[in-house]
Amino acid sequence: MIAGHFGFAAMVKSRAPRAPLWALMLATVWLDVIFVPLLLFGIETIVPAPGVVHSPPGYGEGIIYADYTHSLLGALVLSAAFGALIAWRWGRVAGLATGAVAFSHWLLDLPMHRHDMPFLPGNLGDLPRLGLGLWRWPTASALLELVIMLAGTFLYWRAAVHLAEGQGDGLVRRAHVAAGAMLASGIVTLGLSVAGT
Ligand SMILES: [Zn+2]
Repeated sequence: MIAGHFGFAAMVKSRAPRAPLWALMLATVWLDVIFVPLLLFGIETIVPAPGVVHSPPGYGEGIIYADYTHSLLGALVLSAAFGALIAWRWGRVAGLATGAVAFSHWLLDLPMHRHDMPFLPGNLGDLPRLGLGLWRWPTASALLELVIMLAGTFLYWRAAVHLAEGQGDGLVRRAHVAAGAMLASGIVTLGLSVAGT
């Protein structure tokens, strides 16, 4: 769900232009950035879903026990910490926007994940896990990501061109280039994840 996350960051950038784009992009994958070292240390794990024979599992084929980074409470705490860091340097609005984007990762993961996201860190209290499991239908999931990505890029492009208008052709051209780069990176990311890297 990386392309979809990026698309959402682009949408927010079009609404909160003061938040640096790199911070919004980083915010979209912030939970996964913390997840990777925990995965390497075996604190969080991915196991192939039932019926998946090859390992490591491909696009959407894993049950992801990211019990700290992707627990509801853990995601809220990590997102707030990231937002606070940005707010300290770029102001309250930028901090709120990046914090919200960081948490949007969890919300966007919710329809995709296969019933593996706990409420509390470490699945404390053994409460029921969340996730609607859209990843069981990879074509539908990839299409959903594509739609979010295209919508986000379009909103970003429209807002960037609007801001640049009246400030010279150079800036308008840069807005087109930035939106084009965003579109290209979104397509490449989605292509790579669907190709099952
Ligand atoms: Zn995630």
